[in-house]
Amino acid sequence: MKLMNRVNAFLSCGLILGSYLAFGLTGAAQSPAAHKTENVIVVMIDGMRWQEVFRGADPDLIKTLGPDALEAPKERAAYAQQLYWRPTPTDRRQALMPFLWSVVATQGQIFGNRDLGSDSHVTNGLNFSYPGYSETLTGFADARIHSNDNIPNPNLTVFEWLNAKPAFAGSVAAFGAWEVFQGIFNQQRCGFVVNAGYDPLTSIPATPELALLNTLKAETVRIWPDEPFDPIPFHTAVEYLKIKQPRLLFVGLGETDDWGHAASYAEYLSAAHLADAYVRQLWESVQTMAQYRDKTTFIVLPDHGRGVGAKWTDHGKDILESRETWMAFLGPDTAPLGERKDAPAVTESQVAATLAALLGEDYHAAVPASGLPIQDVLAK
Ligand SMILES: [Zn+2]
Repeated sequence: MKLMNRVNAFLSCGLILGSYLAFGLTGAAQSPAAHKTENVIVVMIDGMRWQEVFRGADPDLIKTLGPDALEAPKERAAYAQQLYWRPTPTDRRQALMPFLWSVVATQGQIFGNRDLGSDSHVTNGLNFSYPGYSETLTGFADARIHSNDNIPNPNLTVFEWLNAKPAFAGSVAAFGAWEVFQGIFNQQRCGFVVNAGYDPLTSIPATPELALLNTLKAETVRIWPDEPFDPIPFHTAVEYLKIKQPRLLFVGLGETDDWGHAASYAEYLSAAHLADAYVRQLWESVQTMAQYRDKTTFIVLPDHGRGVGAKWTDHGKDILESRETWMAFLGPDTAPLGERKDAPAVTESQVAATLAALLGEDYHAAVPASGLPIQDVLAK
């Protein structure tokens, strides 16, 4: 672009002024590095283990039954085996997360398969949700973030930082199943839509679809006091995307963690499978929209891992394996290296600066405490 503008200037005296103006604008927009990404969509899947992402359903856990409280747990377990059990880990993961292993694995990059020498982890040392989301979205672990209480985040997320820039103002939105996203994004301060928990979405004019979603959110049985089932916030986010077309969108899914804590492996797998289908739906939707087509990067990751063996249900600072995560990138600036092998370790604290760098913004310079951008997923 820059060279082209220079050539134009020499070709026609009458175009010199216009070309210089164009050159200046183009130069500014491309700083600090050339990039094609103009929009970013982040999907976080709460407490989704890397073990299932890379190996598919666990041979021992898939035989376990759900808690007695669930109706017909034996039938549920048998159904999960039918859906997700295959003889090899490669086939099992393909059955569990087909979009990840067909599209992202061929067109994007996936970090975190420790079986192949790729490590992804949180640095906060606590290995639970608020610290994990905050680390990922602000770029650093803060000792003040040490509980899951729904308190306003003292730090700015990269979403809030970008929303303060004219190019992004009013074009940022976050949707989450978990009500604590209100605090994590600092709903009171951040200046963009944060719709979480059982709150209806009322900040944009109602459509029939949004009215129905708000009704379902209010009336569906509440298994968990702080979050509805994933389909409700997900489809609310999809409606918002169609209507407002934000440049930066967050979608937080929660059922994987909830069913994990409930020791219900069949439902945990189903929630993971649905999350993968939702990433596909979002990806395929945006490729039909001019605002997004070929200029949108997806980042998909959990907020923490879980324990192994009998401790798969839990996570936290005393369960060391639960620091282990995974992350996936798909978009026009990310080279199609697929499943990473023998790759440098990546951390959740690098995601904020990576997200900004994909959009041509230098978050790490503004927030030096944040992790460095992951260069491997940025255009060279
Ligand atoms: Zn949890």
